[in-house]
Amino acid sequence: MHERQLIFESVLPSELDPARFSKPVIDGIEQPLTVTCTNGETIVHNPKELKIAPSIKDDFDDDELLACAENLENVPPEILEKPKKTKERPNNPLFKYRRGVLSVSDLSAQIWCEQQLLYKFLYPFVLNDDGEIKRVDDKPHMLRGTSLHLERELEIQIKISIECKTREDSYGVRLLNMIQGINGILTWDKPNERYITREMPIFGNMYGGKLYFRGIIDEINYDPRTNQLEVVEFKTRASKTPPKPQQTYTHEVQVNIYRTLLDELIQGRVDKSLYFERYNLEPTTPLCDSVRNEYNERGFSNVDTLENAFDLLTKLAFQMPTITTNGAIEYILQTDATWKHRKEFHRDEHHLEQLLLKSEPFWLGTREPEGVDIEDAYKCNWCDYSDICQWREEKANEFARKKQRLN
Ligand code: SF4
Repeated sequence: MHERQLIFESVLPSELDPARFSKPVIDGIEQPLTVTCTNGETIVHNPKELKIAPSIKDDFDDDELLACAENLENVPPEILEKPKKTKERPNNPLFKYRRGVLSVSDLSAQIWCEQQLLYKFLYPFVLNDDGEIKRVDDKPHMLRGTSLHLERELEIQIKISIECKTREDSYGVRLLNMIQGINGILTWDKPNERYITREMPIFGNMYGGKLYFRGIIDEINYDPRTNQLEVVEFKTRASKTPPKPQQTYTHEVQVNIYRTLLDELIQGRVDKSLYFERYNLEPTTPLCDSVRNEYNERGFSNVDTLENAFDLLTKLAFQMPTITTNGAIEYILQTDATWKHRKEFHRDEHHLEQLLLKSEPFWLGTREPEGVDIEDAYKCNWCDYSDICQWREEKANEFARKKQRLN
């Protein structure tokens, strides 16, 4: 293994911390919530008065729980939007729940069950058997998965915190992580050894589509002997049984999205103004001293604004020796990280394009959410929303009607 790399983490002032804006709602009533941030600080949110809150817009997803300080999509628009730039945003799930930027795991969740995804947005907190309010995704096995991811990351990387003052600074740190990873491949001078980088942020709208994605690639490795670039996704398993085909399928889609986003960056197919618009960022705001200094110390001079950082990233990415060749998923056992199961597969671009075409209307609000087909009904047995699911009820009624007709 080569020398440990640095990975940067932005530390934001508390008024920009998205954890402040997450509110649990049960039966439409806002509940008190305690959130522990990555810096160890505990924030208790007490609603001033009980009020009906029919929907929740400020949910975390798993990536956001991992690094809440780096994920600002949950902050209410009045905090994010500068007064002069306030504009009407469409009232569809893409903007209502995700502020115009989807995480790659949103698409995986959509593939699993679109109806369930919508319920997670509407009711992200549930009462567990002990009467505690829990975020629906905070299952013990998921938390274990998060810590295993962190362990893998720290095998080759050291985390460095950078004090930030604005959202632009925080995005400057994200771009620095991408720049470092790509520059590492470009400057790799060991012809017989792979270069590995982990936890690289990525973004973009694939094939020029209306959906904009962000995500974190678990691992990118480059083999100078074969000139091959591989994207690897880590997944943890509770048992040694192989994952079900439906699970593997969603993981493969995830890897294929990462590969496509990375390739589009390498091929220069990224829209700079769309990036700033979707993330609601001001490209020319000067970066704070700590962020600029970090760029300088890593050998990247003249990076004074986010736009400079973006231009540097696209310039370096364009020099990459190859686009991604391989994709793989590595399954690790939660109770024994030495157990691994690896699955490699080929990219299916046509399938990914078709999938995006099918997914888009839900996010753009032009069709209703769909639940699982009858052959996937096993998913309902594990679902936190099975008691309230209208799709499931309709399917059960449909089935009963068909049976009656046959008798
Ligand atoms: S009960 Fe089934 S159809 Fe309904 S949300 Fe859950 S998984 Fe989807």
